Amino acid sequence: MKIGFLGLGNMGGPMAHNLIKAGHQLTVFDLSQAAVTSLVDAGASAAPSIAALAQADIELIITMLPAAQHVKSVYLGEEGLLANVAPTVKLIDSSTIDPMSAREVATAAAKNGNRMIDAPVSGGTGGAAAGTLTFMVGGEQSDFDAALPVLQAMGKNIVHCGPAGNGQVAKVANNMLLAISMIGTAEAMNLGVSLGMDPKVLAGIINTSSGRCWSSDTYNPYPGVLDTAPASRGYTGGFGSDLMLKDLGLATEAAKQARQPVILGGLAQQLYQTFSSQGNGGLDFSAIIKLYAGDTHE
Ligand code: NAD
Repeated sequence: MKIGFLGLGNMGGPMAHNLIKAGHQLTVFDLSQAAVTSLVDAGASAAPSIAALAQADIELIITMLPAAQHVKSVYLGEEGLLANVAPTVKLIDSSTIDPMSAREVATAAAKNGNRMIDAPVSGGTGGAAAGTLTFMVGGEQSDFDAALPVLQAMGKNIVHCGPAGNGQVAKVANNMLLAISMIGTAEAMNLGVSLGMDPKVLAGIINTSSGRCWSSDTYNPYPGVLDTAPASRGYTGGFGSDLMLKDLGLATEAAKQARQPVILGGLAQQLYQTFSSQGNGGLDFSAIIKLYAGDTHE
């Protein structure tokens, strides 16, 4: 399939690489030249602008952008996608944004004649590289069915969650739990180690006991426990703390609208806010363990 891909960062880059590996023809755009070059080296064509990408010979556009303001400006801006794309081109936004913004963009796409789904992902940069992401999809069943073969080149679990915006609802709930479980794992690991446990032994116990969770067994925040985790490479790459803070803002805002309490979610938001205000927003979100252990964890 001929696919336009916009947003080639920590997630979008490896996702686009997997589409090329699966035999799709890609036209790409990103503000970062280095990100574009990596895809061009793998066989993609580079578009010089968002408008040029929209007008290229493509059947589908996938976007993977940081936050709602980027998604709105890329889709709705004067030089954006909707102003330049043919109505036959299908649209998939995989960025994590609030459900209301996702519905606003989907409504504008529908007015433009374009079929669109929201398809945020879970699974981290490791899942993006391995092609094992979970996709949470909001939109019409027929659009979900049409997108499935393309999403399968990037992910393993692909779930239709309901109408437009519902993919984002599922994502926001999952990421709020992820933040809470990461903080809990950091707290428990730091307590155990400061009381004399070897971190690898403690993680091994947790991972075969009732405290087991993804934050501990796949993404442990304690350095050296897992060679593949950002904790073992100075908390670089991975999922930035500021992105997690953004997702917690989405969760608490959505909770306000639904009049539902998110007590631990609110606390997690404040802890990430504190961490970010100390200049740590660019570190992977597992670096929150530094709130407990200071810079002992480098
Ligand atoms: P990132 O910051 O690494 O990448 C975003 C990319 O978008 C960058 O390359 C940037 O240059 C590009 N970009 C921004 N504005 C643009 C514009 N106007 N035109 C073209 N390109 C533009 O972010 P990421 O980690 O890849 O995350 C992307 C989305 O996926 C976010 O919504 C995030 O919440 C979500 N997400 C991230 C992870 C993770 O582990 N990193 C996991 C699940 C979901």
